[in-house]
Amino acid sequence: MNSTQIASLKALLDTPQKIVIVPHKGPDGDAIGSTTGLYGYLKNAGHDATIIAPNDFPQFLKWMDFTEDILIYDKNVDAANNIIKDAQLIFILDHNSFKRAGDMETVLAASDATFVMIDHHEQPDDFATYTYSDTGMSSTCQMVYHFLEMLEQKDHITPQIATALYTGIVTDTGNFKYRSCTSTTLRVAASLVDAGANGEQINRNLFDANNLSRLKLLAVALSNLVVLPQYRTAYITISQQELDDNGFQKGDTEGFVNYALSLENVVFAQIFIENKDEGILKTSLRSKGTFDVNLMAREHWNGGGHKNAAGGRSDDNIVDTIKKLISILPLYENDLNATAI
Ligand code: 5GP
Ligand code: MN
Repeated sequence: MNSTQIASLKALLDTPQKIVIVPHKGPDGDAIGSTTGLYGYLKNAGHDATIIAPNDFPQFLKWMDFTEDILIYDKNVDAANNIIKDAQLIFILDHNSFKRAGDMETVLAASDATFVMIDHHEQPDDFATYTYSDTGMSSTCQMVYHFLEMLEQKDHITPQIATALYTGIVTDTGNFKYRSCTSTTLRVAASLVDAGANGEQINRNLFDANNLSRLKLLAVALSNLVVLPQYRTAYITISQQELDDNGFQKGDTEGFVNYALSLENVVFAQIFIENKDEGILKTSLRSKGTFDVNLMAREHWNGGGHKNAAGGRSDDNIVDTIKKLISILPLYENDLNATAI
């Protein structure tokens, strides 16, 4: 976003606007952190703002401020459609294509509101009047911080907003661990602590609040783990039956794929989780070093994301999906074996 665009957005936000803020389907910590952080700011600035999430988000994020105000689209279609139709400004956060907004895709595409996109995923679509896209950023939460900085509104970051933004930075960087976590990210996190974010409390809320079902499912995931040394690959499957048998709750399997990636000499990991309701397997792909899973997810799994973290889906059953994975891997054998870590 250049300085002319910033100035024009700033002028627009000088008068109260009807604003809708949209995270991606299957919202994660960064999606919820960025939308609630921006929402807190816009509300305090006198705007009429509503966060509309395509579907529900995990329990382990429900402690966050403002999450009780989030309207869940698939449970409130009519009310949400009316709010979207009235919106003057729509913020698309932590995704860069209407396709990622699930069932909201049609109503968003039909809207004549002014769109603002703030996002760090690869290959953004070109639909927004104001696009702030930077694939080098750790998280959309970091970008919302920079956005407020560009608007010269940093002093308006309350402890609630700081907590929301810090949360998304923590979750999207794997606790400040990934390559995307730069010295600037750490400086932003430090400013957020100065503004009232409590890192210890946030970590406890996020990571020391496991359900028993999550730990039981982790045992299932680890026992289903398969390693393919020839391809420096490890994968995990979890069936709907296994989810049901262990009392699955939304969010329970978040991060499981990282256990597969944590194996020494594994550079690519994938998890497949059956969802009988949707008739698909949801998949997450993770890599170390130079191996690009965004390209792989786009090419083979109807998805996308970042170079080292992407998602997608399979329309086949588990057996056929694994056959497909095994048939794809030889195409990447050279890349996988050349990956430096
Ligand atoms: P996860 O595997 O945790 O669901 O997602 C990993 C990353 O890929 C996240 O940044 C997420 O937003 C993105 N992602 C997940 N699923 C999809 C998808 O179907 N399409 C695209 N373009 N990105 C996805
Ligand atoms: Mn993100």
